[in-house]
Amino acid sequence: MKCLYCDGDLELATDVYHLDRKGIHLTIDDMQVYKCNRCGEIMIPGEEVQALQDILRQLEDSIQREVA
Ligand SMILES: [Zn+2]
Repeated sequence: MKCLYCDGDLELATDVYHLDRKGIHLTIDDMQVYKCNRCGEIMIPGEEVQALQDILRQLEDSIQREVA
């Protein structure tokens, strides 16, 4: 896999990932990411994005339930 920005090589790595959305602050300590060995840019694999979206949806559901 190549970096979209500098054409460097992407390597699988684990990194701390922060996500902020609609008042939800999510930190994942050992997120699987692809990291560029040249510019350090981080890409998230598609299946991880899917998993994140599932987590966010569940969080939003539970928050809405508490408010209602
Ligand atoms: Zn790069």
